[in-house]
Amino acid sequence: MAGLEYSESDVSEGHDRPLRQQLTEVYRLLLARYGPQQWWPADAPFEVIVGAILTQSAAWGNVEKAISNLKQAGALTPVSLRKLPLDELAGLIYPSGYYNAKALKIKSFVERLGDAHQDSLERLFSLDVPSLRRELLTIHGIGPETADSIILYAAQKPVFVIDAYTRRILSRLGLSPPRNDYSALQELFMENLPTEEKLFNEYHALLVRHGKGVCKKVPLCDQCCLRSVCLHR
Ligand code: SF4
Repeated sequence: MAGLEYSESDVSEGHDRPLRQQLTEVYRLLLARYGPQQWWPADAPFEVIVGAILTQSAAWGNVEKAISNLKQAGALTPVSLRKLPLDELAGLIYPSGYYNAKALKIKSFVERLGDAHQDSLERLFSLDVPSLRRELLTIHGIGPETADSIILYAAQKPVFVIDAYTRRILSRLGLSPPRNDYSALQELFMENLPTEEKLFNEYHALLVRHGKGVCKKVPLCDQCCLRSVCLHR
């Protein structure tokens, strides 16, 4: 990434280095370890949105089963999801858990997409990032993490997604801001990295990969590519 250049002499100064350099170093180490992650795993932007709702409190493998059910039923379009009775939708997305609540959330999204944007994601995504985020946050069941996932991975606009893996890794690295809430963590990335959609996409995907496989609840520090920059270790 052109915006992530810094000199080699910057690397040896540990946690006294500016945040930008520390975040850049974490990114470089993760990318070197895992390679590009090619996110989001979906065939189309509308599938990303449905997946972003279904993945709330769910393992991705179960979300894939729910999406596969929707595809097999021919229900993965805004029109067909609106027509589908709520209990049938809940049955199709059963594998993702919280299926009644998630069915309502999906219904809320497709109702808004129809009412306000004539079912056109292109129209919805023509909003600038702050307006798009505000609109998404007014829809039932869409909170900051889901809204930002939709903006980054479906609309392909630059916003950093914060999730539980990001929180845990940042905290262990000793990089969490004093006010450790969603917006403060998001600002940490967005104010210290170039505003590039591809960079935010790859960085978040790498953090998820690392949080799932190595920096788990009980971390596998012996196998970790971030040992040299981690306070927890
Ligand atoms: S060294 Fe351990 S705590 Fe630190 S990032 Fe790696 S796995 Fe997590």
